[in-house]
Amino acid sequence: MGGKAETSARKPGASEPGKAGRTGGGKHRRSFRASGLPARVTEILARLKAAYPDARTALDHQDAYQLLVATILSAQCTDARVNLVTPAVFAAYPDAAHLARARQADLEQLIQSTGFFRNKARNLIGMAQAVVADHGGTIPRTMEQLYALPGVGRKTANVVLGNAFGINEGVTVDTHVTRLAGRLKLTRHTDPVKIEQDLMKLVPQRDWTLVSHLLILHGRNICLARKPRCERCVLVDLCPSAFKV
Ligand code: SF4
Repeated sequence: MGGKAETSARKPGASEPGKAGRTGGGKHRRSFRASGLPARVTEILARLKAAYPDARTALDHQDAYQLLVATILSAQCTDARVNLVTPAVFAAYPDAAHLARARQADLEQLIQSTGFFRNKARNLIGMAQAVVADHGGTIPRTMEQLYALPGVGRKTANVVLGNAFGINEGVTVDTHVTRLAGRLKLTRHTDPVKIEQDLMKLVPQRDWTLVSHLLILHGRNICLARKPRCERCVLVDLCPSAFKV
C-alpha cells in the first residue's frame, strides 16, 4: 500500500461538472466557513460519501491473508500493478502455511514487477512464518499482533483490520490522505502518525476506515498533487486551500 492509494469506486460523482457550482455558492461558503471544525468535517464526510458511494479498497482480495499480502506488495507500487501479480502469488501460495515454506527466489520472480521485490519477498515469507508459528496460520485480528509481524506497520495493519475484519482501529494515512488532510486543514502535521491521531479525533470511529478511502479517491480524481481541480470539487466552499494551491 505504501505511498500509493488502495481505494476504488465505480462512480466518483465529484468529477461531475457542475456539482461544485451547486455546492460552492456564496450562501454555503459563508455558513461553513463561519461554523466550527466539527461541523465542517461532518459536511466534508457527507459530501465525499455522496460523491464516492462505492468507496472501498482497490486491492483485489478474498480474505485477510490475501489482503495482507497485497498490502505488503503495494508499498511504493500502484494497486493496479499489485492486482496484476497477486493472482499468481495466491495460486502458488494459497495461505500462510504455503507462503511460509516458499523459496525466496521463486517468490521474488512472481513479485518482481512490484519493485523492492527482494525486501518484499523476505517480509512476506517472514510474515507467513510468524503467522504460522504464533497464530496457527490464521491472520491475527488485533493491531498489536499484526504490527508484530515482519513487514507490517501500523498503516498496513489498519488496512487489514478495517477492510478484512471491519474493525475501525485507526485511519490509514498515505500520500493522498496526507495531502488532503493538509489542504483541508484537518491537521497541522505532516507526520503520518500525528495526522492519524488528528483524524481519529475529528472523524467518528465508525468512519475511520471509510474516510481514508474517501480522501484517497478524492485525491486521485480531483485534489491532484500538482494541480487540484478546485473548480470541480464538491468541497470547494469547505476548503481553506481552494484555488490557493
Ligand atoms: S484544494 Fe481544491 S480540489 Fe483540493 S479539496 Fe480544496 S477545493 Fe478541493
